[in-house]
Amino acid sequence: MAVKIQEGFALFSKRMDAKAFIEGEDESLDNMESQKMVEINKERDERKRKLLFDNLDLIMRHRDEIMKTPRYAKIDVHYALRGGGAYIGPIAMQRRFSAAGVPVTVGVTLGSLLGIWGSATYKVDCSCGNTAYIRSFGGSPLTGMSVAGAICPHCKNEIHGIRSRPFGDYVRQVQNALDSEVAEVSQAFISGTFGKVRELCSLEKMISELKLREYREKQ
Ligand SMILES: [Zn+2]
Repeated sequence: MAVKIQEGFALFSKRMDAKAFIEGEDESLDNMESQKMVEINKERDERKRKLLFDNLDLIMRHRDEIMKTPRYAKIDVHYALRGGGAYIGPIAMQRRFSAAGVPVTVGVTLGSLLGIWGSATYKVDCSCGNTAYIRSFGGSPLTGMSVAGAICPHCKNEIHGIRSRPFGDYVRQVQNALDSEVAEVSQAFISGTFGKVRELCSLEKMISELKLREYREKQ
């Protein structure tokens, strides 16, 4: 049973003088909410990741169009790729930096992801005759050895144990992508265009728009 203690200011001051700090009810509520938000974001990332890979064939059919349409290309998909290395831990798919004193977080965007998947490092041949795309990798920065997993958008086959590429090649592509996102956002700050109204789009919205278009084209 939870015990609620009402503490007046006089008692509060006494306790502070005695340096007896306890977590107040408001603080503990705040911490609980923060914890819940972390969990909700995690679940959301998982759901979006599944949605992205379930619709990878659709996305790949519209690859060029997505890359040249800013409202599609700028969709945040930091949850898509997973990478990790011995000694260095998870590879960050987001970067926090300061733009003109304002803390900003950028993540791998859909446009960047399609660019990464355009490189030979992130492509493998699937037994069905189509191209599969690497979505997880691990390895050692010291030896350069790596092991990766891919998914084929055509037959949905998952390919495991891809060991033929240097670990650094995977990491470099992600870092280059984040470097350009950071450069672009910094530039937008300098030119004063950052935060100006731009039509935003979600992964969910883009997928339904693309599906609808394909449906109409078949009519
Ligand atoms: Zn396949």
